[in-house]
Amino acid sequence: MYRKVAADIVEALRQIVGEVNVLVGAEEMEPYTHDEVVGLRADPEVVVRVTSAGQVADVFRLAQRERVPVTPRGAGYGLSGGAVPVQGGIVLSMEKMNRILEIDKANLMVTVEPGVITGDIHRAVEAEGLFYPPDPAALDSCSIGGNIAEGAGGPRAVKYGVTKDYVCGLEAVLPSGEIITCGGKLVKNVTGYSLIQLLIGSEGTLAVVTKIILRLLPLPKVQIDLLVPYDDFQAAADTVSDIIARRILPTTIEFMERDSILAVERLLQKEAPYHDAAAHLLIQLDGNSQEAVDQDSEMVGELCLEHGARDVLVAKDRRTQDRLWEARRMIIDALNNESPINHMEDVVVPRAEIPPLLKGIKGIGRRHTVRIICFGHAGDGNVHVNVLKDDIPDDRWELLVPAATEEIYRLTLLLGGMITGEHGIGATRRRYLPLALDKAQIEVMRRIRAAFDPHHILNPGKIFP
Ligand SMILES: Cc1cc2nc3c(=O)[nH]c(=O)nc-3n(C[C@H](O)[C@H](O)[C@H](O)COP(=O)(O)OP(=O)(O)OC[C@H]3O[C@@H](n4cnc5c(N)ncnc54)[C@H](O)[C@@H]3O)c2cc1C
Repeated sequence: MYRKVAADIVEALRQIVGEVNVLVGAEEMEPYTHDEVVGLRADPEVVVRVTSAGQVADVFRLAQRERVPVTPRGAGYGLSGGAVPVQGGIVLSMEKMNRILEIDKANLMVTVEPGVITGDIHRAVEAEGLFYPPDPAALDSCSIGGNIAEGAGGPRAVKYGVTKDYVCGLEAVLPSGEIITCGGKLVKNVTGYSLIQLLIGSEGTLAVVTKIILRLLPLPKVQIDLLVPYDDFQAAADTVSDIIARRILPTTIEFMERDSILAVERLLQKEAPYHDAAAHLLIQLDGNSQEAVDQDSEMVGELCLEHGARDVLVAKDRRTQDRLWEARRMIIDALNNESPINHMEDVVVPRAEIPPLLKGIKGIGRRHTVRIICFGHAGDGNVHVNVLKDDIPDDRWELLVPAATEEIYRLTLLLGGMITGEHGIGATRRRYLPLALDKAQIEVMRRIRAAFDPHHILNPGKIFP
Protein backbone atom coordinates (compact mmCIF):
# COMPACT_ATOMS: atom_id res chain seq x y z
CA MET A 1 0.00 0.00 0.00
CA TYR A 2 2.76 2.44 0.93
CA ARG A 3 5.98 3.34 -0.89
CA LYS A 4 9.34 2.92 0.77
CA VAL A 5 11.32 6.07 1.56
CA ALA A 6 13.91 6.12 -1.21
CA ALA A 7 16.97 8.38 -1.48
CA ASP A 8 15.09 10.94 -3.62
CA ILE A 9 12.46 11.35 -0.88
CA VAL A 10 15.15 11.83 1.78
CA GLU A 11 16.74 14.46 -0.43
CA ALA A 12 13.40 16.25 -0.90
CA LEU A 13 12.89 16.23 2.89
CA ARG A 14 16.36 17.78 3.34
CA GLN A 15 15.31 20.56 0.96
CA ILE A 16 12.25 21.23 3.15
CA VAL A 17 13.71 21.15 6.69
CA GLY A 18 17.48 21.34 6.14
CA GLU A 19 20.05 18.58 6.39
CA VAL A 20 20.46 18.73 10.19
CA ASN A 21 16.76 18.05 10.73
CA VAL A 22 16.63 14.81 8.73
CA LEU A 23 17.80 11.69 10.57
CA VAL A 24 18.41 8.39 8.75
CA GLY A 25 20.99 6.49 10.83
CA ALA A 26 19.70 3.58 12.96
CA GLU A 27 21.35 4.93 16.11
CA GLU A 28 20.05 8.50 15.78
CA MET A 29 16.56 7.20 14.92
CA GLU A 30 16.47 4.73 17.86
CA PRO A 31 14.72 7.16 20.29
CA TYR A 32 11.89 7.50 17.72
CA THR A 33 11.18 3.75 17.51
CA HIS A 34 9.01 3.63 20.65
CA ASP A 35 6.97 5.54 23.19
CA GLU A 36 6.42 4.44 26.81
CA VAL A 37 4.51 1.24 25.96
CA VAL A 38 6.60 -1.68 27.16
CA GLY A 39 7.66 -3.97 24.32
CA LEU A 40 6.25 -2.02 21.33
CA ARG A 41 8.82 -0.81 18.78
CA ALA A 42 8.90 -0.10 15.05
CA ASP A 43 11.62 1.48 12.91
CA PRO A 44 10.99 4.72 11.05
CA GLU A 45 12.57 4.97 7.60
CA VAL A 46 13.40 8.62 8.22
CA VAL A 47 12.85 11.15 11.04
CA VAL A 48 12.08 14.77 10.16
CA ARG A 49 12.23 17.55 12.77
CA VAL A 50 10.04 20.43 11.63
CA THR A 51 10.19 24.04 12.82
CA SER A 52 7.07 25.59 11.20
CA ALA A 53 3.56 24.86 9.93
CA GLY A 54 4.82 25.59 6.39
CA GLN A 55 7.37 22.79 6.69
CA VAL A 56 4.70 20.37 7.94
CA ALA A 57 2.56 21.31 4.91
CA ASP A 58 5.47 20.68 2.52
CA VAL A 59 6.22 17.30 4.13
CA PHE A 60 2.55 16.32 3.77
CA ARG A 61 2.44 17.34 0.10
CA LEU A 62 5.51 15.21 -0.55
CA ALA A 63 4.12 12.28 1.46
CA GLN A 64 0.80 12.47 -0.45
CA ARG A 65 2.56 12.52 -3.79
CA GLU A 66 4.78 9.58 -2.88
CA ARG A 67 2.19 7.71 -0.74
CA VAL A 68 4.50 7.50 2.27
CA PRO A 69 3.00 7.21 5.80
CA VAL A 70 3.68 10.00 8.32
CA THR A 71 3.60 9.45 12.09
CA PRO A 72 3.47 12.66 14.15
CA ARG A 73 5.46 12.63 17.38
CA GLY A 74 5.54 14.93 20.37
CA ALA A 75 7.81 13.88 23.21
CA GLY A 76 7.22 10.12 22.88
CA TYR A 77 5.76 9.71 26.37
CA GLY A 78 2.44 8.25 25.20
CA LEU A 79 1.07 5.04 26.71
CA SER A 80 -0.80 3.58 23.71
CA GLY A 81 1.85 3.47 20.98
CA GLY A 82 0.39 6.48 19.11
CA ALA A 83 3.80 7.87 18.12
CA VAL A 84 5.24 4.49 17.08
CA PRO A 85 5.67 4.28 13.27
CA VAL A 86 4.07 0.84 12.90
CA GLN A 87 4.04 1.18 9.09
CA GLY A 88 7.53 2.69 8.83
CA GLY A 89 7.72 5.83 6.68
CA ILE A 90 8.34 9.32 8.09
CA VAL A 91 8.31 10.20 11.79
CA LEU A 92 7.37 13.88 11.98
CA SER A 93 8.88 15.17 15.20
CA MET A 94 7.45 18.37 16.70
CA GLU A 95 10.20 18.62 19.33
CA LYS A 96 11.77 21.77 17.83
CA MET A 97 8.49 23.70 17.74
CA ASN A 98 8.83 24.40 21.45
CA ARG A 99 8.23 28.11 21.99
CA ILE A 100 5.77 29.76 24.34
CA LEU A 101 4.69 32.53 21.96
CA GLU A 102 2.58 34.77 24.20
CA ILE A 103 1.03 34.99 27.66
CA ASP A 104 -1.93 37.33 27.19
CA LYS A 105 -2.87 38.55 30.66
CA ALA A 106 -5.70 40.75 29.40
CA ASN A 107 -7.49 37.77 27.82
CA LEU A 108 -6.20 35.05 30.19
CA MET A 109 -4.80 33.04 27.27
CA VAL A 110 -1.44 31.49 26.42
CA THR A 111 -0.32 30.76 22.85
CA VAL A 112 2.21 27.95 22.40
CA GLU A 113 3.82 25.72 19.82
CA PRO A 114 2.99 21.99 20.10
CA GLY A 115 6.44 20.81 21.19
CA VAL A 116 6.45 22.80 24.45
CA ILE A 117 6.77 20.53 27.48
CA THR A 118 3.54 20.84 29.50
CA GLY A 119 5.34 21.54 32.79
CA ASP A 120 7.09 24.53 31.15
CA ILE A 121 3.67 26.04 30.39
CA HIS A 122 2.68 25.54 34.03
CA ARG A 123 5.81 27.29 35.30
CA ALA A 124 5.63 30.16 32.79
CA VAL A 125 2.00 31.06 33.51
CA GLU A 126 2.29 30.50 37.28
CA ALA A 127 5.11 33.08 37.33
CA GLU A 128 2.44 35.54 36.12
CA GLY A 129 -0.12 34.45 38.78
CA LEU A 130 -2.04 32.35 36.22
CA PHE A 131 -2.97 28.70 36.09
CA TYR A 132 -3.17 26.00 33.39
CA PRO A 133 -4.80 23.12 35.33
CA PRO A 134 -4.38 19.94 33.17
CA ASP A 135 -1.48 18.03 34.71
CA PRO A 136 -0.71 14.60 33.24
CA ALA A 137 1.62 12.86 35.66
CA ALA A 138 4.37 12.92 33.00
CA LEU A 139 4.02 16.71 32.73
CA ASP A 140 7.76 17.36 32.84
CA SER A 141 8.31 15.00 29.91
CA CYS A 142 5.27 15.11 27.59
CA SER A 143 4.41 17.87 25.08
CA ILE A 144 1.26 19.96 24.86
CA GLY A 145 0.76 18.78 21.24
CA GLY A 146 0.77 15.18 22.49
CA ASN A 147 -1.67 16.17 25.28
CA ILE A 148 -4.06 17.58 22.68
CA ALA A 149 -3.74 14.58 20.37
CA GLU A 150 -4.42 12.20 23.29
CA GLY A 151 -7.02 14.36 25.05
CA ALA A 152 -4.80 14.01 28.11
CA GLY A 153 -6.16 14.26 31.62
CA GLY A 154 -4.38 14.16 34.96
CA PRO A 155 -5.03 14.26 38.71
CA ARG A 156 -6.68 17.69 38.70
CA ALA A 157 -9.45 16.53 36.36
CA VAL A 158 -11.75 15.99 39.37
CA LYS A 159 -12.22 19.74 39.81
CA TYR A 160 -10.79 21.35 36.68
CA GLY A 161 -11.47 18.95 33.81
CA VAL A 162 -9.01 17.83 31.14
CA THR A 163 -7.10 19.25 28.16
CA LYS A 164 -10.21 19.59 25.99
CA ASP A 165 -11.71 22.04 28.50
CA TYR A 166 -8.91 24.57 27.95
CA VAL A 167 -8.25 24.63 24.18
CA CYS A 168 -9.76 27.73 22.56
CA GLY A 169 -7.75 27.91 19.35
CA LEU A 170 -5.71 25.62 17.12
CA GLU A 171 -3.66 25.96 13.97
CA ALA A 172 -3.39 22.61 12.22
CA VAL A 173 -2.05 21.21 8.97
CA LEU A 174 -4.34 18.81 7.11
CA PRO A 175 -2.86 15.78 5.35
CA SER A 176 -3.57 17.64 2.07
CA GLY A 177 -1.06 20.29 3.13
CA GLU A 178 -3.71 22.95 3.79
CA ILE A 179 -3.23 25.00 6.97
CA ILE A 180 -6.39 25.74 8.98
CA THR A 181 -6.99 28.07 11.94
CA CYS A 182 -9.81 27.08 14.30
CA GLY A 183 -11.19 29.30 17.06
CA GLY A 184 -8.97 31.89 18.71
CA LYS A 185 -8.73 33.71 22.03
CA LEU A 186 -12.44 33.07 22.39
CA VAL A 187 -14.22 31.79 25.46
CA LYS A 188 -17.36 31.17 23.37
CA ASN A 189 -17.54 30.08 19.74
CA VAL A 190 -20.21 28.02 17.99
CA THR A 191 -19.34 28.88 14.42
CA GLY A 192 -19.83 25.62 12.51
CA TYR A 193 -18.78 22.18 13.72
CA SER A 194 -16.12 22.30 16.42
CA LEU A 195 -13.05 21.02 14.61
CA ILE A 196 -11.08 21.88 17.74
CA GLN A 197 -12.95 19.25 19.75
CA LEU A 198 -12.69 16.79 16.86
CA LEU A 199 -8.90 17.18 16.67
CA ILE A 200 -8.53 16.83 20.45
CA GLY A 201 -8.10 13.11 21.14
CA SER A 202 -7.75 12.26 17.44
CA GLU A 203 -4.35 10.69 18.22
CA GLY A 204 -2.54 12.27 15.29
CA THR A 205 -4.78 10.60 12.70
CA LEU A 206 -6.60 13.65 11.29
CA ALA A 207 -4.15 16.58 11.22
CA VAL A 208 -0.97 17.87 12.80
CA VAL A 209 -1.41 20.66 15.33
CA THR A 210 1.11 23.47 14.93
CA LYS A 211 -0.16 26.24 17.25
CA ILE A 212 -2.37 26.17 20.34
CA ILE A 213 -4.28 28.82 22.29
CA LEU A 214 -5.14 27.74 25.85
CA ARG A 215 -7.50 29.35 28.34
CA LEU A 216 -6.01 30.17 31.75
CA LEU A 217 -7.43 30.68 35.23
CA PRO A 218 -6.20 32.82 38.09
CA LEU A 219 -3.75 30.77 40.18
CA PRO A 220 -5.49 29.55 43.37
CA LYS A 221 -3.83 31.09 46.43
CA VAL A 222 -4.16 28.17 48.84
CA GLN A 223 -3.47 24.46 48.41
CA ILE A 224 -3.64 21.70 51.01
CA ASP A 225 -2.68 18.06 50.39
CA LEU A 226 -3.77 15.11 52.50
CA LEU A 227 -2.16 11.69 52.48
CA VAL A 228 -4.57 9.16 53.96
CA PRO A 229 -3.44 5.58 54.70
CA TYR A 230 -6.01 2.77 55.05
CA ASP A 231 -5.65 -0.75 56.39
CA ASP A 232 -8.57 -1.85 54.27
CA PHE A 233 -8.27 -1.50 50.49
CA GLN A 234 -12.05 -1.44 50.00
CA ALA A 235 -12.55 1.26 52.67
CA ALA A 236 -10.26 3.58 50.67
CA ALA A 237 -12.26 2.88 47.50
CA ASP A 238 -15.54 3.52 49.34
CA THR A 239 -14.26 6.87 50.66
CA VAL A 240 -13.71 8.14 47.10
CA SER A 241 -17.33 7.80 46.08
CA ASP A 242 -18.51 9.11 49.46
CA ILE A 243 -16.47 12.34 49.20
CA ILE A 244 -18.05 13.06 45.81
CA ALA A 245 -21.53 12.14 47.09
CA ARG A 246 -21.12 14.68 49.94
CA ARG A 247 -20.67 17.43 47.32
CA ILE A 248 -17.11 18.30 48.27
CA LEU A 249 -15.00 18.87 45.17
CA PRO A 250 -11.31 18.30 45.85
CA THR A 251 -8.81 19.17 43.12
CA THR A 252 -7.61 15.58 43.07
CA ILE A 253 -8.34 12.22 44.68
CA GLU A 254 -5.56 9.80 43.76
CA PHE A 255 -5.60 6.15 44.78
CA MET A 256 -2.49 3.99 45.34
CA GLU A 257 -2.51 0.48 46.65
CA ARG A 258 0.17 -1.02 48.89
CA ASP A 259 2.11 -2.89 46.20
CA SER A 260 2.54 0.32 44.19
CA ILE A 261 3.89 2.17 47.25
CA LEU A 262 6.30 -0.64 48.06
CA ALA A 263 7.47 -0.68 44.42
CA VAL A 264 8.27 3.06 44.66
CA GLU A 265 10.17 2.46 47.91
CA ARG A 266 12.26 -0.21 46.26
CA LEU A 267 13.00 2.09 43.32
CA LEU A 268 13.87 5.17 45.40
CA GLN A 269 15.44 3.12 48.21
CA LYS A 270 13.74 5.14 50.90
CA GLU A 271 10.79 4.55 53.17
CA ALA A 272 7.39 6.07 52.36
CA PRO A 273 5.07 7.16 55.19
CA TYR A 274 2.68 4.36 56.24
CA HIS A 275 4.14 2.05 53.62
CA ASP A 276 2.48 -0.97 55.21
CA ALA A 277 -1.05 0.45 54.69
CA ALA A 278 -3.27 -1.48 52.26
CA ALA A 279 -3.95 1.68 50.23
CA HIS A 280 -3.35 5.43 50.27
CA LEU A 281 -5.56 8.24 49.09
CA LEU A 282 -3.80 11.43 48.07
CA ILE A 283 -6.29 14.27 48.20
CA GLN A 284 -5.67 17.87 47.20
CA LEU A 285 -7.92 20.84 47.89
CA ASP A 286 -7.41 24.37 46.65
CA GLY A 287 -9.08 27.76 46.62
CA ASN A 288 -8.51 31.39 47.42
CA SER A 289 -9.54 31.56 51.06
CA GLN A 290 -7.38 29.83 53.65
CA GLU A 291 -10.38 29.48 55.92
CA ALA A 292 -12.57 27.78 53.29
CA VAL A 293 -9.84 25.36 52.17
CA ASP A 294 -9.01 24.54 55.82
CA GLN A 295 -12.69 23.88 56.46
CA ASP A 296 -13.05 21.58 53.41
CA SER A 297 -9.89 19.67 54.25
CA GLU A 298 -11.11 19.12 57.82
CA MET A 299 -14.42 17.77 56.49
CA VAL A 300 -12.61 15.45 54.08
CA GLY A 301 -10.21 14.33 56.81
CA GLU A 302 -13.09 13.50 59.14
CA LEU A 303 -14.88 11.58 56.40
CA CYS A 304 -11.74 9.54 55.77
CA LEU A 305 -11.45 8.72 59.47
CA GLU A 306 -15.12 7.72 59.56
CA HIS A 307 -14.28 5.24 56.78
CA GLY A 308 -11.53 3.74 58.93
CA ALA A 309 -8.46 5.69 57.72
CA ARG A 310 -5.46 5.07 59.94
CA ASP A 311 -4.36 8.72 59.91
CA VAL A 312 -4.63 11.93 57.86
CA LEU A 313 -1.26 13.55 57.07
CA VAL A 314 -1.65 17.22 56.13
CA ALA A 315 0.81 19.12 53.93
CA LYS A 316 0.45 22.89 53.62
CA ASP A 317 3.87 23.90 52.29
CA ARG A 318 5.44 23.11 48.93
CA ARG A 319 8.28 20.96 50.27
CA THR A 320 6.02 18.63 52.25
CA GLN A 321 3.51 18.53 49.38
CA ASP A 322 6.25 17.50 46.94
CA ARG A 323 7.24 14.72 49.37
CA LEU A 324 3.69 13.39 49.47
CA TRP A 325 3.43 13.45 45.67
CA GLU A 326 6.83 11.88 45.01
CA ALA A 327 5.53 8.32 45.36
CA ARG A 328 2.51 8.98 43.12
CA ARG A 329 4.59 10.50 40.32
CA MET A 330 7.09 7.61 40.39
CA ILE A 331 4.61 4.70 40.26
CA ILE A 332 4.90 3.90 36.55
CA ASP A 333 8.71 3.91 36.70
CA ALA A 334 8.55 1.82 39.87
CA LEU A 335 6.26 -0.80 38.30
CA ASN A 336 8.56 -0.99 35.26
CA ASN A 337 11.45 -1.50 37.68
CA GLU A 338 9.49 -4.15 39.54
CA SER A 339 8.56 -6.19 36.48
CA PRO A 340 10.11 -4.86 33.25
CA ILE A 341 7.45 -6.78 31.35
CA ASN A 342 4.02 -5.57 32.37
CA HIS A 343 0.73 -4.53 30.85
CA MET A 344 -1.06 -1.29 31.71
CA GLU A 345 -4.73 -0.48 31.28
CA ASP A 346 -6.49 2.87 31.74
CA VAL A 347 -10.15 2.13 32.31
CA VAL A 348 -12.74 4.71 33.37
CA VAL A 349 -16.10 4.21 35.11
CA PRO A 350 -18.71 6.52 36.63
CA ARG A 351 -17.13 7.70 39.88
CA ALA A 352 -19.59 5.87 42.12
CA GLU A 353 -18.58 2.57 40.47
CA ILE A 354 -14.96 2.73 41.67
CA PRO A 355 -15.55 0.28 44.58
CA PRO A 356 -17.04 -2.56 42.45
CA LEU A 357 -14.44 -1.93 39.73
CA LEU A 358 -11.50 -2.31 42.11
CA LYS A 359 -13.06 -5.33 43.79
CA GLY A 360 -13.77 -7.00 40.42
CA ILE A 361 -10.22 -6.38 39.19
CA LYS A 362 -8.76 -8.01 42.30
CA GLY A 363 -10.97 -11.04 41.54
CA ILE A 364 -9.64 -11.19 37.97
CA GLY A 365 -6.08 -11.15 39.34
CA ARG A 366 -6.85 -14.02 41.70
CA ARG A 367 -8.53 -16.08 38.97
CA HIS A 368 -5.50 -15.73 36.69
CA THR A 369 -2.96 -15.98 39.56
CA VAL A 370 -1.23 -12.82 38.44
CA ARG A 371 -0.26 -9.64 40.33
CA ILE A 372 -2.55 -6.78 39.31
CA ILE A 373 -1.73 -3.41 40.87
CA CYS A 374 -4.18 -0.51 40.64
CA PHE A 375 -3.54 3.20 41.08
CA GLY A 376 -4.75 6.36 39.46
CA HIS A 377 -7.23 9.15 39.32
CA ALA A 378 -9.95 7.54 41.41
CA GLY A 379 -11.73 10.87 41.94
CA ASP A 380 -12.71 10.99 38.28
CA GLY A 381 -13.32 7.26 37.93
CA ASN A 382 -10.09 6.63 36.00
CA VAL A 383 -7.99 3.72 37.23
CA HIS A 384 -4.65 2.49 35.88
CA VAL A 385 -4.58 -1.28 36.08
CA ASN A 386 -1.15 -2.90 35.89
CA VAL A 387 -0.77 -6.59 35.17
CA LEU A 388 2.77 -7.69 36.15
CA LYS A 389 4.53 -10.57 34.44
CA ASP A 390 6.94 -11.20 37.33
CA ASP A 391 8.22 -14.77 36.76
CA ILE A 392 5.24 -16.06 34.77
CA PRO A 393 6.54 -18.18 31.83
CA ASP A 394 6.33 -16.46 28.42
CA ASP A 395 3.81 -18.90 26.91
CA ARG A 396 1.37 -18.47 29.82
CA TRP A 397 1.86 -14.67 29.77
CA GLU A 398 1.01 -14.50 26.03
CA LEU A 399 -2.39 -16.11 26.72
CA LEU A 400 -3.00 -14.41 30.06
CA VAL A 401 -2.70 -10.78 28.91
CA PRO A 402 -5.50 -10.80 26.28
CA ALA A 403 -7.74 -12.93 28.51
CA ALA A 404 -7.31 -10.67 31.58
CA THR A 405 -7.57 -7.52 29.44
CA GLU A 406 -10.85 -8.62 27.96
CA GLU A 407 -12.25 -9.49 31.40
CA ILE A 408 -11.18 -6.08 32.76
CA TYR A 409 -12.82 -4.36 29.77
CA ARG A 410 -16.04 -6.36 30.08
CA LEU A 411 -16.29 -5.53 33.78
CA THR A 412 -15.65 -1.83 33.03
CA LEU A 413 -18.28 -1.72 30.29
CA LEU A 414 -20.78 -3.51 32.51
CA LEU A 415 -20.29 -0.74 35.09
CA GLY A 416 -21.07 1.89 32.44
CA GLY A 417 -17.41 2.70 31.75
CA MET A 418 -15.03 2.92 28.78
CA ILE A 419 -11.79 1.14 27.97
CA THR A 420 -9.53 4.19 28.10
CA GLY A 421 -9.93 7.42 30.06
CA GLU A 422 -6.82 9.34 29.00
CA HIS A 423 -4.16 7.23 27.30
CA GLY A 424 -6.01 6.63 24.02
CA ILE A 425 -6.60 3.64 21.75
CA GLY A 426 -3.43 4.02 19.65
CA ALA A 427 -1.81 0.82 18.47
CA THR A 428 -2.30 -1.18 21.64
CA ARG A 429 -6.08 -1.13 22.16
CA ARG A 430 -7.38 -0.96 18.62
CA ARG A 431 -8.48 -4.56 18.43
CA TYR A 432 -10.73 -3.95 21.45
CA LEU A 433 -12.50 -0.91 19.98
CA PRO A 434 -15.52 -2.99 18.82
CA LEU A 435 -16.02 -4.18 22.41
CA ALA A 436 -16.58 -0.59 23.51
CA LEU A 437 -18.23 1.11 20.52
CA ASP A 438 -21.01 -0.08 18.25
CA LYS A 439 -20.47 -0.64 14.53
CA ALA A 440 -22.28 2.53 13.49
CA GLN A 441 -20.03 4.74 15.65
CA ILE A 442 -16.87 3.13 14.35
CA GLU A 443 -18.13 3.54 10.79
CA VAL A 444 -18.83 7.28 11.28
CA MET A 445 -15.35 7.68 12.74
CA ARG A 446 -13.82 5.89 9.77
CA ARG A 447 -15.67 8.21 7.40
CA ILE A 448 -14.47 11.28 9.31
CA ARG A 449 -10.97 9.99 9.02
CA ALA A 450 -11.35 9.41 5.28
CA ALA A 451 -12.67 12.98 4.85
CA PHE A 452 -9.45 14.36 6.37
CA ASP A 453 -7.09 11.81 4.90
CA PRO A 454 -8.49 9.78 1.98
CA HIS A 455 -5.18 7.97 1.31
CA HIS A 456 -4.52 7.17 4.99
CA ILE A 457 -1.02 8.57 5.00
CA LEU A 458 -1.40 10.05 8.49
CA ASN A 459 -0.58 7.72 11.39
CA PRO A 460 -1.87 4.47 9.88
CA GLY A 461 -2.34 1.43 12.15
CA LYS A 462 -3.88 3.45 14.99
CA ILE A 463 -7.34 3.53 16.63
CA PHE A 464 -9.22 1.36 14.09
CA PRO A 465 -9.18 -2.45 14.25
C1 LIG B 1 4.95 8.20 33.70
C2 LIG B 1 3.79 8.61 32.85
C3 LIG B 1 2.68 9.21 33.44
C4 LIG B 1 1.59 9.61 32.66
N1 LIG B 1 0.52 10.21 33.25
C5 LIG B 1 -0.52 10.62 32.49
C6 LIG B 1 -1.64 11.27 33.10
O1 LIG B 1 -1.69 11.49 34.30
N2 LIG B 1 -2.66 11.66 32.28
C7 LIG B 1 -2.62 11.44 30.92
O2 LIG B 1 -3.57 11.82 30.23
N3 LIG B 1 -1.57 10.83 30.34
C8 LIG B 1 -0.53 10.43 31.09
N4 LIG B 1 0.55 9.80 30.50
C9 LIG B 1 0.55 9.61 29.04
C10 LIG B 1 1.22 10.75 28.29
O3 LIG B 1 1.80 11.66 29.17
C11 LIG B 1 0.19 11.48 27.45
O4 LIG B 1 -0.43 10.61 26.53
C12 LIG B 1 0.81 12.65 26.66
O5 LIG B 1 -0.25 13.40 26.12
C13 LIG B 1 1.75 12.21 25.56
O6 LIG B 1 2.38 13.37 25.04
P1 LIG B 1 3.68 13.22 24.13
O7 LIG B 1 4.13 14.58 23.75
O8 LIG B 1 4.68 12.38 24.81
O9 LIG B 1 3.03 12.49 22.87
P2 LIG B 1 3.59 11.32 21.96
O10 LIG B 1 3.71 10.05 22.71
O11 LIG B 1 4.78 11.79 21.22
O12 LIG B 1 2.37 11.21 20.93
C14 LIG B 1 1.10 10.84 21.38
C15 LIG B 1 0.11 10.94 20.21
O13 LIG B 1 -0.02 12.29 19.82
C16 LIG B 1 0.24 12.45 18.43
N5 LIG B 1 0.83 13.78 18.31
C17 LIG B 1 1.89 14.28 18.99
N6 LIG B 1 2.07 15.58 18.68
C18 LIG B 1 1.12 15.91 17.77
C19 LIG B 1 0.77 17.09 17.07
N7 LIG B 1 1.44 18.22 17.24
N8 LIG B 1 -0.29 17.06 16.21
C20 LIG B 1 -1.01 15.92 16.05
N9 LIG B 1 -0.72 14.77 16.68
C21 LIG B 1 0.33 14.76 17.54
C22 LIG B 1 1.12 11.27 18.06
O14 LIG B 1 0.97 10.91 16.72
C23 LIG B 1 0.55 10.18 18.98
O15 LIG B 1 -0.56 9.58 18.38
C24 LIG B 1 1.64 9.41 31.25
C25 LIG B 1 2.77 8.83 30.66
C26 LIG B 1 3.82 8.42 31.46
C27 LIG B 1 5.02 7.82 30.77
